[in-house]
Amino acid sequence: MSSDLFKLASTIFPGGVNSPARAMKHLPNPFYVRSAEGAYLFTEDGEKLIDYCMGFGPLILGHRHPAVLRAVQNWLERDWLYGAPTKLEIDEARKIMDHVRSIEMIRFVSTGTEATMNAIRLARGFTGRKYIIKFEGNFHGSHDYVLVKAGSGAATWGTPTSAGVPDEAAKLTIVVPYNDLDALEKAMQERGDEVAAIIMEPIAANYGLIPPREGYVKEVKQLTEEHGTLLILDEVVTGFRVGLEGAQGLFGVKPDLTTLGKIIGGGFPIGAFGGSREIMKLVSPLGPVYNAGTFNAHPVSMVAGLATIKELEGEQAYAIANEAAKRLGEAIIDIGGRAGLDVWVNRVASMFQFYFTKKPVESTRDVAESNEKMYLKVHAEALKRGVYLAPSQYEVNFTSAAHDRDVVDYTIRALEESFKAIK
Ligand code: PMP
Repeated sequence: MSSDLFKLASTIFPGGVNSPARAMKHLPNPFYVRSAEGAYLFTEDGEKLIDYCMGFGPLILGHRHPAVLRAVQNWLERDWLYGAPTKLEIDEARKIMDHVRSIEMIRFVSTGTEATMNAIRLARGFTGRKYIIKFEGNFHGSHDYVLVKAGSGAATWGTPTSAGVPDEAAKLTIVVPYNDLDALEKAMQERGDEVAAIIMEPIAANYGLIPPREGYVKEVKQLTEEHGTLLILDEVVTGFRVGLEGAQGLFGVKPDLTTLGKIIGGGFPIGAFGGSREIMKLVSPLGPVYNAGTFNAHPVSMVAGLATIKELEGEQAYAIANEAAKRLGEAIIDIGGRAGLDVWVNRVASMFQFYFTKKPVESTRDVAESNEKMYLKVHAEALKRGVYLAPSQYEVNFTSAAHDRDVVDYTIRALEESFKAIK
């Protein structure tokens, strides 16, 4: 039983888990997963759940997609780690660079955290400047440079600024509100010439989902150009999620550096940072900015990522995943309205989140002012009915190519009952 496992786990792991978002603070215990297939998770309690977390983003094709499974199985038949280069990493890099045109050179690492940490170090190495600017509620992983007013589990658990980050380090990270150009202009006027990089989620997906205002990402890019600051677009979530070219393709913005992760590993550990040749040539061993990793460009992550991107090139996967999120978003508005509840939905491509609030959700403050208790009640009710939504209003729901019409129809019925149950 999950409850027994959690009891045991709580004596072994802090909070019983190995990553905070898994703890599900509003439930007595998280469910334990036994297996997964398509849009479903199967738990140790014998339950079948429709999954809207999808590994927190990587599984855009669904769990255990046959093409990815085949590619990984074939590779594992051989072996799995060399500590030497493979042809696979060239194939995957070229595939990525075919689509994300701002990347002329790339370095594979093992996580999104490493991707942003190294991109920031590189920006500092390139510009010779110390400061970075990040946006409130944006999440870029769990390293010191970015654990200042961060989103995701850090927001859910009320620790957006982590203990253990020295003041001296935190001071180098200037935090401004997301979607507020005036605040950014002011910060850049004050300090712009000392800022190595602005790092941003082009579509904020770690404080719920907050799409950028019209033209915002372009305006941020413009500001960086005026000050000789680099723009790092953190596309760990949005890369290959909102389309093959990522959010930069969607908004027509060319960043100096891009960070990727999640989908490009097809469900296996991955991260990458890349950009113009001029900047990337500073990375070791070609240049003086150090990066290394035992698992960098892990062969299994490379084959799984490559199989995933090839499948996405077919467009069918995007069509199904996007349609699922669109229908669910519309249904939630409708269900909320009929239940007499004020609900707002944000959706981009195959990501969505809903909030109990009377007003549009365009900023982190709008999210924080939404009724979190009601969200968590719906979450618990939906779970009883076999639907696993994002476990906090600060996370987002992901759909996949496995979320077909039947899955969505079932979900809509379950949500209808869940909304009624919390009234
Ligand atoms: N950047 C963004 C935008 C993310 O959402 C995340 C993780 N959710 C990360 C970086 C860190 O990635 P990882 O968990 O692979 O370290």
